[in-house]
Amino acid sequence: MTPSQTSGPSSPSTHPAAPLIDLKLRKVAYFSMEIALAKALPTYSGGLGMLAGDTLRSAADMGAPMVAVSLVHRRGYFQQHLDFDGQQTETDVVWHPEAVLPSADQVVALTMQGRNILIRAWRFDVIGCTGHVVPVYLLDTDVDGNEEWDRHLTDKLYGGDNYYRLCQETILGLGGIQLLHELGMKPEVCHMNEGHAALLSLGLLEERLAASGTDKPLSAASEDDFKAVQQLCVFTTHTPVPAGHDRFGIDQMYQVLGQQRADLISRSGCLHNDLFNMTYLALRFSRYVNGVAMQHGKVTQQMFPEYHVHSITNGVHAATWISKPFQALLDKEIPEWRHDNQYFRSVYGIEPQRIADTHAQGQVRLFATVKLRTGIDLDPNVMTIGFARRVATYKRAHLLFKDPARLEAIAEKLGGLQILYGGKAHPADTGGKGLIREVFDAAKKFSSAKLKMIYLENYDWELGEQLTGGVDVWLNTPQRPYEASGTSGMKAALNGVPSLSVLDGWWIEGCAEGITGWAINDDDNEDIEAGYLYDKLEQDVIPKFADKKAWARMQQHCIAINGTYFNTHRQLGQYVANAYFPLAASEAVTNQPQTPEIESADAVLV
Ligand SMILES: *Cc1c(COP(=O)(O)O)cnc(C)c1O
Repeated sequence: MTPSQTSGPSSPSTHPAAPLIDLKLRKVAYFSMEIALAKALPTYSGGLGMLAGDTLRSAADMGAPMVAVSLVHRRGYFQQHLDFDGQQTETDVVWHPEAVLPSADQVVALTMQGRNILIRAWRFDVIGCTGHVVPVYLLDTDVDGNEEWDRHLTDKLYGGDNYYRLCQETILGLGGIQLLHELGMKPEVCHMNEGHAALLSLGLLEERLAASGTDKPLSAASEDDFKAVQQLCVFTTHTPVPAGHDRFGIDQMYQVLGQQRADLISRSGCLHNDLFNMTYLALRFSRYVNGVAMQHGKVTQQMFPEYHVHSITNGVHAATWISKPFQALLDKEIPEWRHDNQYFRSVYGIEPQRIADTHAQGQVRLFATVKLRTGIDLDPNVMTIGFARRVATYKRAHLLFKDPARLEAIAEKLGGLQILYGGKAHPADTGGKGLIREVFDAAKKFSSAKLKMIYLENYDWELGEQLTGGVDVWLNTPQRPYEASGTSGMKAALNGVPSLSVLDGWWIEGCAEGITGWAINDDDNEDIEAGYLYDKLEQDVIPKFADKKAWARMQQHCIAINGTYFNTHRQLGQYVANAYFPLAASEAVTNQPQTPEIESADAVLV
């Protein structure tokens, strides 16, 4: 067992003491490598962190008995710089948690890499609309007494090499469980938000063996111990893209985790193709597993046929993503929306014209930002398309520019087009960086004054909010079936912005053709698929935009139909009912393989 210790505040904090929370009553612990907590904190990279933050904001609004664990990421996820050619460079975003957050007043010692490493935590309170607090513990290894290398392990989100990543995931999973234990919390559910957090299962196992008082080593864990841990764990997987499933070399696994834990992982079926696979670890130890939209659940089920995979479709936190003007309108007309998003349906009681006018206010703000950043004036009478997301190959930022001449012809013929782009590529993703340059190249070739294309630097929470709240149409062109869910189109819908999207991820559930937006037919041939995109734009989207009455009605449909459903209030309710506290208690049995691919621990150990 790893030793742990309690100490007083690990460093002087200028922040006032945090309000007391009875952690013993908190039933659900949510673990995520990234969480978007505040605009000013660089603790997230993209959709995964945004989803985690939105989920916790809904948990706070709804009074859910949750806490969360993540890493502090002192050097953050990066700020993006783009030169004239679209060449991306990055700078760190350094922040000092001790200056803004209270300490959790606990330090735990974790054995990893063959030595003890001290971990402290900072507490960020997510405060709901009625004052309920969901505390988030941000683990930090920058502690006196740690070796220099170890002090930087919680510095950079998705930074460093594989070894660094495995160290981070060890801190998140094992360190996180130890911290909660020291804080006196006994969670009934531990939710792994993506495989990064899967090592929490070993933390629970170690804790269980220690609690048995017999000082049993991990090697003595029995099938009953495994089952007991499974009962506590819920796992959400977020992507069918193979690179999104963390794998580590077996040597590395032994180096970082040590012999006992590594042996246990090896014999519990968590190696795959001779690599330590975090997804298999998470699957093996969870009683409930889900994908993040209906189709993604099915795709994931095919990837892991031996497990039962459910689906809970993602949402977004409405109050975070609805523009200020819309919030004012809703507060006046349906104030209940803040604690209960089902009330969005009553947007049908608001005149479509008022919705269109309110959307126009969000657009004014966006256009002012564009002017400030680029000096370019945009025209509210010309249709503005938004496309912004983490730059990953499968998201295909280039599809709109497959045939620049056709795009220009459409803009010329139909009164113009304004296109706003944004997105960061991971610093090590040369392919993604190439895509940004491709978009820049395409834009340079346009000669028509009717077509404006602007790539906005440093897509983040603030820019995301302004774009989804201010453009006219949200464009999404992933390669099927790789978009597990996607959430930015949901943010747009809540602001009365229809999507034009390939039928992938959430859009399969959200698209009512010509009502909440439009589907782009897909084809294996990208040129043909781009052709379908241009056809839709030319024949449906732009003509509809010209009919102001019909357009306002569509904006209303987006909020009333999709806003009501694609929010994290509904999503969290489904997690509570289906995953955390299912009425069907037999769930635990159904997830695991009928004939386990592992040998029973008991059999191995006698
Ligand atoms: C919403 C959001 C994302 C995720 O968008 P997807 O549509 O899921 O790709 C990524 N980054 C930021 C800044 C966001 O606000």
